[in-house]
Amino acid sequence: MPEGPEIRRARDELAQVLEQGKVTKIFFAFDHLKPYQSKLKNNRIIEVNAKGKAMLIRFSNGYTIYSHNQLYGKWIISPDGKIPDVKRQLRLAIHMQQGAAFLYSASDISVLKEHELVNHPYLSKLGLELLSATTTQEMVKQRLLTFHKSRRTLMTLLQDQRVLAGIGNYLCCEILHVSGLHPETRICDLNQQQLELIADNSFQLTRQSYETAGITNLLSRAEKLAKQGIEFESYRFNVYRRKGLSCYQCGDVIVKGKFSGRMGYCCLGCQPL
Ligand SMILES: [Zn+2]
Repeated sequence: MPEGPEIRRARDELAQVLEQGKVTKIFFAFDHLKPYQSKLKNNRIIEVNAKGKAMLIRFSNGYTIYSHNQLYGKWIISPDGKIPDVKRQLRLAIHMQQGAAFLYSASDISVLKEHELVNHPYLSKLGLELLSATTTQEMVKQRLLTFHKSRRTLMTLLQDQRVLAGIGNYLCCEILHVSGLHPETRICDLNQQQLELIADNSFQLTRQSYETAGITNLLSRAEKLAKQGIEFESYRFNVYRRKGLSCYQCGDVIVKGKFSGRMGYCCLGCQPL
């Protein structure tokens, strides 16, 4: 499932096509959205934004298309505007003067006015957006500090989108590894220094993954491994999907298991409980 960095990269691609020129045609598969086809046509798209796992496409006439991909949704960009040859259910198509964007398989799509966005059940509950341009490392620290007395484990707390928006399973496993913390460590058991470390790594690793299209390994190490001809999927992570392999840091064998009810990966050499 895509996490913050993947969603933001999809946003960037969408913005390139949608944030220019006018909408020439729009198609909604769901009947209750069809009346918006004529309302949105001939408008400009003033902004494409990603919030948590939702995409928001804001039109010049005050409407916003909200979509959440859940497990199956997928955006496909078509620079020449042609409908892609894919075996998926087309749910939304936005044709521009140049290019088009198609959303497949997603079922959570709505068209909202400004005031409906503010009270939206998903958007209004989102925590601090890690990849927002206005979010700073200090803000992440302050956010985690407000949960310092909580008995929740880092494995569940970091993946709770109401706390920090953007971290899913792979980022969580990687952040915990570089912080040297076991997934079942409770946030209330961290000292100030560990809490700051987890905040800094949450901020930095999420951004690094966004900038590098998914690398959370040490960049110098990833570069070295790539030069040796090792494939991207094999060098991008420290521990994620590396069950049974040795840890780059300490040489211990990486384990896969359920931590606080969630599947994850860790190195017990670097991350003792
Ligand atoms: Zn290790």
